[in-house]
Amino acid sequence: MNPKKLVVVGGVAAGASFAARARRLNEAAEITIIERGPDVSFANCGLPYHIGGEIPARDVLAVQTPQSLKDLLNLKVRTQCEAIQIDPIGKRLQIKDALTGQTEWMDYDKLMLSPGASPIRPPISGIEDERIFTLRNLQDMDRIIAAAETGMRAVVIGAGFIGLEMAEQLCRKQMKVQLVELMNQVIPPLDAPMTMLLESELRRNGVEVLLGDGIRDFRPENEHVTCRLNSGTCLEADIVIMSIGVKPDNELARAAGLTLGVRGHLVVDEYQRTSNPDIYAAGDAVETLDRVMPARTAVPMGGPANRQGRVAADHIFLGEKARPYPGSLGTGIVRAFDVVAGITGWSEKRLQSAGHAYETVTVNDNHHASYYPGAKPMTLKIFWEPNSGRLLGAQVTGFEGVDKRLDVLATAIIAGMTVEDLCHLELAYAPPFGAAKDIINLAGFAACNRRDGLVKHTPELPTDPRVQVVDVRGKPLAEAFPPPISTLNIPFPTLRANLGKLDKNRPVVTLCAFGKMSYFAARILSQQGFDVTSFSGGLKANVDPRSPAKLPTA
Ligand SMILES: Cc1cc2nc3c(=O)[nH]c(=O)nc-3n(C[C@H](O)[C@H](O)[C@H](O)COP(=O)(O)OP(=O)(O)OC[C@H]3O[C@@H](n4cnc5c(N)ncnc54)[C@H](O)[C@@H]3O)c2cc1C
Repeated sequence: MNPKKLVVVGGVAAGASFAARARRLNEAAEITIIERGPDVSFANCGLPYHIGGEIPARDVLAVQTPQSLKDLLNLKVRTQCEAIQIDPIGKRLQIKDALTGQTEWMDYDKLMLSPGASPIRPPISGIEDERIFTLRNLQDMDRIIAAAETGMRAVVIGAGFIGLEMAEQLCRKQMKVQLVELMNQVIPPLDAPMTMLLESELRRNGVEVLLGDGIRDFRPENEHVTCRLNSGTCLEADIVIMSIGVKPDNELARAAGLTLGVRGHLVVDEYQRTSNPDIYAAGDAVETLDRVMPARTAVPMGGPANRQGRVAADHIFLGEKARPYPGSLGTGIVRAFDVVAGITGWSEKRLQSAGHAYETVTVNDNHHASYYPGAKPMTLKIFWEPNSGRLLGAQVTGFEGVDKRLDVLATAIIAGMTVEDLCHLELAYAPPFGAAKDIINLAGFAACNRRDGLVKHTPELPTDPRVQVVDVRGKPLAEAFPPPISTLNIPFPTLRANLGKLDKNRPVVTLCAFGKMSYFAARILSQQGFDVTSFSGGLKANVDPRSPAKLPTA
């Protein structure tokens, strides 16, 4: 028999998606959303962009209202109402109305927990000052906008996705922005080399980026807040944005005895059932299967939350016909001014720390045909399983077309594709859109060259003095941007004529601007009997990252 009463705790991404799908599957059910805040189903991902003025109208962020959910889906929505206790035996939920202070119990047949995750506010001295903000909902956004009206100096603590978006948007408001990050890179989920372009773009636009330093405490003063960092550096701020991560809002679930994972996320099965079969959960509050490895993961992103909510409703009303949630991949993308970077699947550091064997290549190319006006450089890094060639992860950075490559690679990983498959992906091509050999094909070619033993790659410049490092860039570039180690400059077109300058008994590393010419050089040298390795990815930091890569088409 279909359940009659569904109660949903939390009415934004996962909760609203669950309720909408449940209604489409069953007209008769009584579906009630309990939401602590004054809004339901709002666009939290859009909040930074309204702060900066890029989304001018506030009301577009309120995607639905209690009244529109009533009209469209016949949902009962109780805002400013908090769920305070679950009675799993009696199948009741206790709620408290924030306006009247009254509490009451509601019966449920099935309970959906989608309380999300709250921004972390560490218990450090001074954190309660009213000029220190976190950003989760429309009210936080309004407070930040009001504070930014009078202040000119912002310190953003944490250079993750939200921190970067906030740094960019506060800059748009002509504020002086300082961005502090504990790690030695921005966007810590990515591998450090793939974040360099983002970092330089932030600096180019006036953001002061302080890496490898964390917040020690705050000293509220009359005129400003002093942010004291671990290094002793003190920053003066009119407003502070804390964006150092989120933690699942699972106190209710913990008190009800539901099983939580090591980091406090609700453990759910493939149909989003918690350890209690009448209680489902979805979104930032849960951990699920990992899509790449036999592991569990928690991905606090909008896509997983929405899709998990749908799976839970399907399971309640379709039973065995419901399609299980296959796990999360961890696909994320961020923009800082003109630069875009993204990740899907596992990163190198995650593979390393979990002790998984992997191989990787980094390739550079333009986002569409080099000869077509407006070509912009792009860097793509992929990881794969050594034996099978199965893709494990990818990262992309550039100016345009990053989202397209990331989505293709996310799809490829989900499909279980190998690097061989990337070689022959037939992707949309006309000069304004791509290239006859897209950068994704190139990554496949480079990986296969490696698998076939045609080339050895190194991601690092050699330190062994026995190694002959051959810089095959043209003389002007090599002289203008010398590598940080001693090299022999033999421009690529002259290499065949200058083989005599190299000692066959010593190893050779070839390097160039983008990694492609050094590969070509390595092929020449290896066929002449040299033990040669190509410096993968090239020295591109030494060329203007904004101009199209001058790459040979061969
Ligand atoms: C500023 C910002 C930008 C973001 N940008 C992106 C992005 O670009 N891309 C992306 O994929 N993701 C982004 N995210 C993350 C994405 O918004 C979340 O992953 C998603 O909203 C999670 O959905 P959820 O339903 O689990 O939780 P939420 O959307 O947070 O909703 C949970 C709701 O539950 C309510 N609640 C909690 N406890 C109770 C209780 N006891 N009683 C009643 N109500 C309760 C809360 O008030 C909250 O409204 C962003 C998040 C933020 C804050």
